[in-house]
Amino acid sequence: MTRTLITNGMIVSATGRASGDVLIDGETIAAILAPGQAAGLGISADRTIDATGKYVVPGGIDVHTHMELPFGGTEASDTFETGTVAAAWGGVTTIVDFAVQNTNTSVHERLAEWHEKAAGNCAIDYGFHQIIGGVDEESLKAMTYLVDNEGITSFKLFMAYPGVLYSDDGQILRAMQNASESGAMIMMHAENGIAIDVLVAQSIARGDTDPRFHSLTRPAEMEGEATHRAIQLAKVAGNVPLYIVHMSASEALEEVAAAQHAGLNVFGETCPQYLYLSLEDHLAQPGFEGAKWVCSTPLRTKHQHHQNDLWKGLRMNELAIVSTDHCPFCFKDQKELGLGDFSKIPNGIGGVEHRMELLYQGVVTGEISLERWVETCATTPARMFGLDRKGEIAPGFDADVLIWDPNNRTKIGINDKHHMNMDHSAYEGFEIDGKVDTVISRGTVVVENDTFVGKVGHGKYVKRGLSRYLH
Ligand SMILES: [Zn+2]
Repeated sequence: MTRTLITNGMIVSATGRASGDVLIDGETIAAILAPGQAAGLGISADRTIDATGKYVVPGGIDVHTHMELPFGGTEASDTFETGTVAAAWGGVTTIVDFAVQNTNTSVHERLAEWHEKAAGNCAIDYGFHQIIGGVDEESLKAMTYLVDNEGITSFKLFMAYPGVLYSDDGQILRAMQNASESGAMIMMHAENGIAIDVLVAQSIARGDTDPRFHSLTRPAEMEGEATHRAIQLAKVAGNVPLYIVHMSASEALEEVAAAQHAGLNVFGETCPQYLYLSLEDHLAQPGFEGAKWVCSTPLRTKHQHHQNDLWKGLRMNELAIVSTDHCPFCFKDQKELGLGDFSKIPNGIGGVEHRMELLYQGVVTGEISLERWVETCATTPARMFGLDRKGEIAPGFDADVLIWDPNNRTKIGINDKHHMNMDHSAYEGFEIDGKVDTVISRGTVVVENDTFVGKVGHGKYVKRGLSRYLH
């Protein structure tokens, strides 16, 4: 087995930092040693990586991606290959993507399709959540089967997108009861889609068809209301663990915080786009430009306090995890499907490559601590979603490591750092006071010296256990 020794770095965990050397044996972290201790113990390595002046942290875990997702007559532009290579470039060593069951399709058949898309094509490890878009006897049975046999322990439901992915309150309750029995997690897209569809139709009828109306027809109140309703249903269903995805609104965050104070098993996720981008500065850009930033939940106005509240929520653990909801579409031919009608713009922003970078900038600006960066981007995602061997630099864990250089810089943009299969960047021109230096996936170096040196097919499917966050 190949032995790698990472020397002289500052090892940062969710709970602190200390200088030390990391010994990797094959695919696993074998030991954490005091600096220089390996030589004294007569431990030799095949390869030594000098991390002097750098941070050594667990590889990023992005638990919300949509590679090759069919949406609105097109498909997300990153394949599992291009998307996981871009993820590696961004210091990410595991993604959890969503297999999709739509209304009137079979969970087992759709999951098989997702396995087919991903198998042999990933540069880093991957797992799946299952979207349940049609709750009925058969899909409920399938949920239990997936927990017991397939390593899929989390199920996403939609309170939006009627006719495609939407579940009514009765269906949501039944799925939650099922998850309560099996110990699985329910993930919720919490927006009142029935009311939103009325607002969308009214807006189009009035001639208000520009991209910015995508946000104006999905008001924050509709995110807050749905979040509240999801929490009440989860409580009734036996306090099933409930994870609200891609939160963008203060109204929704208040509901999650109140539920947590009441002792409920409710968790929040946000994404970099909601921390950094806004209705005015991005979605409302002149002409059709704003289509690049059409995603749901939508970007919110900067004249309210959403962004400040989300950062505060991250500090207070009201938001446990930052993921990307990576769902890239090219501007040309894809976003353009909605020219003259914002409701036909495919929903999604690409960001899998930039989450570690963008959140690190929050460390530089003092919004979160270095440890909180590690916790929200790697350690908690692993614990929340049962990735039992990931998310920590500790003996016995998978050797998924990001070496981060705080003394270097990253410029994000289509002609700068950009490896996702998109013809634009949602974060064009952003500059980060730090840089991905070296990325190691299960003991194999996949990025170093500004070069991807990994292999497509290296990434393995990871069967997940139940959430460890509550135990
Ligand atoms: Zn999503």
